[in-house]
Amino acid sequence: MIQIKGLNDTDVDISEAERQQFESTLNSEVLYEGCDEYEQSRQIFNHIFDRKPALIVKPTGVADIQTTVQFAAAHRLLIAIKGGGHNIAGHASCEGGILLDLCLMQGVYVDPKTQQVRVEAGTLLHKLDHETQAFGLAVPTGVVSVTGVAGLTLGGGFGWLTGKHGLSIDNLLAAQIVTSDGKVLNVSKNNHADLFWAIRGGSGNFGVVTSFLFQAHPVGPEVLFCGPMYAIDKAESVLLKWRDFMTHASRDLTSVAFIYRVPPSTHFPKHLHNQDVVMLAGVHTGESKEAKKQIEALRHFDGLIHDATSIMPFEAVQQWFEGWDVDKIQPQRFYFKSMFTNQLDQNILKEFIDGFRLRPLATCQGNVSFVIQCLRGVYREVPEEATAFGSRDTDFMLESNLAWIDANFDDANIAWGRALWDRLAAYSNNNRIYLNHSGVEEDHVGQLPSVFGKNYDKLRQIKKKYDPMNLFRKNANIPPAD
Ligand SMILES: Cc1cc2nc3c(=O)[nH]c(=O)nc-3n(C[C@H](O)[C@H](O)[C@H](O)COP(=O)(O)OP(=O)(O)OC[C@H]3O[C@@H](n4cnc5c(N)ncnc54)[C@H](O)[C@@H]3O)c2cc1C
Repeated sequence: MIQIKGLNDTDVDISEAERQQFESTLNSEVLYEGCDEYEQSRQIFNHIFDRKPALIVKPTGVADIQTTVQFAAAHRLLIAIKGGGHNIAGHASCEGGILLDLCLMQGVYVDPKTQQVRVEAGTLLHKLDHETQAFGLAVPTGVVSVTGVAGLTLGGGFGWLTGKHGLSIDNLLAAQIVTSDGKVLNVSKNNHADLFWAIRGGSGNFGVVTSFLFQAHPVGPEVLFCGPMYAIDKAESVLLKWRDFMTHASRDLTSVAFIYRVPPSTHFPKHLHNQDVVMLAGVHTGESKEAKKQIEALRHFDGLIHDATSIMPFEAVQQWFEGWDVDKIQPQRFYFKSMFTNQLDQNILKEFIDGFRLRPLATCQGNVSFVIQCLRGVYREVPEEATAFGSRDTDFMLESNLAWIDANFDDANIAWGRALWDRLAAYSNNNRIYLNHSGVEEDHVGQLPSVFGKNYDKLRQIKKKYDPMNLFRKNANIPPAD
């Protein structure tokens, strides 16, 4: 007999016969504590969470996902789903329950004729980029290539193509999903339209997505990467000029300002090492000569200390913010937090930049970054009710990404991060945050009505229809309607 954590937080006894019956119907591996693969599989990006599931299923196809969901639902067992495992809030792991680790499902199938791409749910961004770029195409996703397509898409999906083509969900045409009753549904605008609407922003609340169908777009293979870097003492004036510049910029340019300490890595010239900088990063997907002309002003503000602007392959841009390995010591503990705002004036910038300057020393060992995403173009044009995501009437997203190594600093760093966002909340758009950057697990409780705005009640109704027992609760959890 084994014990598996149940939905009501008590252990459920599963007899040996029940366990064997379940496992005998699977094609996939089932992992238990005691083997290396179990240890690897339970690991997620944020090492603050060190949870041990009772068992891990690594499905190789839809059938075993279906069987596992049916087994969990029949016994009312806690289940977590791991796509890329990058969610900082730790949702892709669970203590004592079942973990569905989708890492073996990484098929990407491009149809160059329709420019549509079928992507299995365990795929990481770099695999998707690699396969699509072979046809001169790209799907709008995120800016760090080891992130999972699934979690990123279900929560929205911001990246270098957001201005030109919108969020990842704005390019989603259909998906296949296993719901809590064990059914496999193909959802699209014409099929289970309510569920298709809900998964575009409603996170993993409604079932296990097994694959996504995206509309890709011609991109590159080379694009203009914009990379002027300015001294931190000029950050406020540089960011105000950037804000004004972006008001008139072409939608071919998506720009994100990064404030960070340059690591002592060969990725950067020596004179920049350990300096705090603000970088006006961006990607322009237009013809390169014209693109260069258009971004010229961003490269000549007062305080320029380096310019990484260059034409480069889109795949390289997607990996630009990685590989800064310094002695291979990488931070493993993270606290990411975000907020949407329309107000990028001196007051909020002062608070934000001061926040960066006064960050706890412990985090400096890592690659702390404060980020401002400028939101324009297609992102803003999608009506608020067209997808569950909400938050379209917003000009900027602010993020603080704290990273550190030593577990002894967890409490202090998280408390520091929360205090910063308590101060910044005064400037937010109705308390709205990006659920894919939502702190650690308890943070979003009570915040969902403001995150989803007028979409919230509809989401609760759809949750009730497709997951009345709230089987899928390891996420920014939307309770089923009463
Ligand atoms: C270094 C880093 C960089 C990032 N950059 C960006 C960025 O550029 N743009 C951006 O928008 N976001 C970014 N993010 C945030 C990212 O979108 C979220 O962390 C997202 O959750 C990652 O997806 P994942 O599949 O790796 O997550 P996971 O941790 O595997 O899953 C996240 C959530 O989705 C659920 N889930 C996963 N797969 C499925 C599935 N198949 N069916 C149903 N539910 C599922 C999980 O249960 C969990 O609740 C970044 C995060 C990190 C750590």
